[in-house]
Amino acid sequence: MRHWCGAAVAVAVAATPAAARDIVVKDQSEFGAATKAVQPGDRILLGDGEWRDFAIRFVADGTKDKPILLGAQHAGKALLTGKSSLAVAGKFIVVANLVFKDGYAAGKDGVIATRVGNKWLENSRLTGLVIDNFTNPDRKFEDHWVSLYGAGIRVDHSQFVGKANAGAMLVVIRDQPWPLANHIRIDHNWFGPRPVLGANGGETIRIGTSTESLSDSITTVEDNWFERCDGEVEIVSVKSGKNVIRGNVFDSSQGSVVLRHGHGNLVERNVFLGHGLPHTGGVRVINERQIVRGNYMEGLAGTDFTSALVVMNGVPNSPLNRYFQVKQATIDHNSLIDVARVTLGAGASEERSAAPVDVKLTGNLITGRDGMDPFRAEASVAGIAFAGNAGTATTAAGVTIDAREVKLARAANGLLYPTDPKLAELGAPHDLNPVKRAETGVAWYPKLLEPTPALAGATARDVPVADAAGLSRAVDTGRAGDVIRLKAGTYRVAAPLTVSKPLVIAGHDATLTFAGATLFALENGGRLELRGLSISGAASPQQPGNAVIRTSAQPMTANYAIRLIDCTFADMGAPGFDVIATTPSTLADLIELRRSRFRDVAGAVLAGRSETGQLGYYNAEHVVIADSRFDRVGTVVDLLRAGTDESTYGPHFAMTGSTVTDSGPVMLWGVQETNIDGNTFISSKGIAVTHSVGTPLTRITGNRFVRTPAPTVTELDYRGPERAVLTPNDIAG
Ligand code: CA
Repeated sequence: MRHWCGAAVAVAVAATPAAARDIVVKDQSEFGAATKAVQPGDRILLGDGEWRDFAIRFVADGTKDKPILLGAQHAGKALLTGKSSLAVAGKFIVVANLVFKDGYAAGKDGVIATRVGNKWLENSRLTGLVIDNFTNPDRKFEDHWVSLYGAGIRVDHSQFVGKANAGAMLVVIRDQPWPLANHIRIDHNWFGPRPVLGANGGETIRIGTSTESLSDSITTVEDNWFERCDGEVEIVSVKSGKNVIRGNVFDSSQGSVVLRHGHGNLVERNVFLGHGLPHTGGVRVINERQIVRGNYMEGLAGTDFTSALVVMNGVPNSPLNRYFQVKQATIDHNSLIDVARVTLGAGASEERSAAPVDVKLTGNLITGRDGMDPFRAEASVAGIAFAGNAGTATTAAGVTIDAREVKLARAANGLLYPTDPKLAELGAPHDLNPVKRAETGVAWYPKLLEPTPALAGATARDVPVADAAGLSRAVDTGRAGDVIRLKAGTYRVAAPLTVSKPLVIAGHDATLTFAGATLFALENGGRLELRGLSISGAASPQQPGNAVIRTSAQPMTANYAIRLIDCTFADMGAPGFDVIATTPSTLADLIELRRSRFRDVAGAVLAGRSETGQLGYYNAEHVVIADSRFDRVGTVVDLLRAGTDESTYGPHFAMTGSTVTDSGPVMLWGVQETNIDGNTFISSKGIAVTHSVGTPLTRITGNRFVRTPAPTVTELDYRGPERAVLTPNDIAG
């Protein structure tokens, strides 16, 4: 079945017959009038300027030769802002060159949906669209930026960047009553940065859901550029059959292409560039008749389910939403260069007990990072036939590879190939010609990366301050990246300081007290570094619930950061007085305590258990404590990730070189990576770790425990050999 995908649209538009009209509309009522009279071949063009709160509904039928165009009079000059959205249905329609920014779509269908009521879109094209940080401010509100209902739709040369709330950026929707065989083509788009969501629902693309996953969607995702798409473990989540993922570039993106549900999919000629960044992955294979061939992967640091290549173990007679056994997979002529891990039989457990069968792993070139053996077999690999693979030697049981040192040279296409002619036929094809970034998206709108805002960058400005009023003013009116320098003295801060941009506040011999329940209130966009300050709670109310730093009571879509460097916190004896108090629907990229001292704190230095639901949300991606001292502190850290969701990499927790005396515990629940090394605990409650989900890595080593219980690690579900590393430690009783 061939669908009209609008390949000839540009030509058709240029040669618009005389009868067809260009109708330029200036406001929403003119648009309404134009749509009522629209004829095949017409072009309805939004005039330049801002279109605020414009919920476009457009239903029309063009013809193959005379499609109807809805677009901008000038590409990129019609800006849809505020509560704007687009719902479009019908046949032979082209939507082109619109920009959504400075707002968000309020409805469940998100920014663009190809349906109006129960009517869907067919044989149509969405091209040159930009959705720029048009994100719902409630990070737990689930929507999709582009919801594709229908068939024969092409989405091309568009840019999507900055979705920070739950829900995929782009989904193909196939459950009743929508078409199952979608023939959708998603090509030459730029999928820009998607920040870590900290829960399931951070996919960039999802095709279907498990319910109808045994039917074929026949969707193609081709020649797109994915850049820092870090939302969750699935960048592209395939949940249907006969889809093609081809020729895409995955650059510096956390996560993988996951063949989660559905059979007979093809993943070929993609390029994955991890640059050694954590959790960069390749392809994860589940289900039957999947083909993974001719892909190029370099510098992927992901492990476990995010390995460069994962062949999973399945569940016998699996329900639709679990894991079908891998059968008849072909994994052929891929280059996996400098990769941390290849995992076969991944996730084997009592439930996932069906090892892969009838799998061919042939002609691949596989080298491990730093010459390390990348292979792990977590189940029998007897059902995998290895032939003609070469690369780093392995000790994984049953894995066969022609072990040799592989010398590589970069070819004109930017990719590495073996210099040894005997290996020339192995790995990814030499004619791979990955799509260029400039060939994706549109030429008339920047592909801004907006790097995670530094706390103080090269453009940092010093703002000297000598009293509390000046401090308050500097925080309110300062610019992002300012370094506010406090002269020596005592600052009595009367009202909370609201931080909604990156700020550094530094000082020597500067002491802050505060009269309210909060000193710093972090709001969306806020990142805060304190350097060299002394903060006393002595002037705060003698009532429960004070905090030095508190995140917003509203959801924050921008992940925040807190760094406390060379600071002292003391006299926080009121009940439940916390240093850092987190709130639901907020996520820290980083909370760092370095060379700081915490004395007489009744609550927690880090209270990180505000997320109470079972969806897997948590409060901090990375927590780092180094060279710090805790004396008479109620709780050092309380960090929780609840639920059994497997879609995230965090939290990560590290504590080194610190001393804890006469204090409460370090409590970690559901943390995925823990490294506690070289600390001393005296007359304290010690460390309590609970492993709840995933494959947590816990190392507690080189610590001294004096009159402090030995650390405990509780496994909730896992049954097997001890997996936490708890030696050596010096437990002095
Ligand atoms: Ca997911």
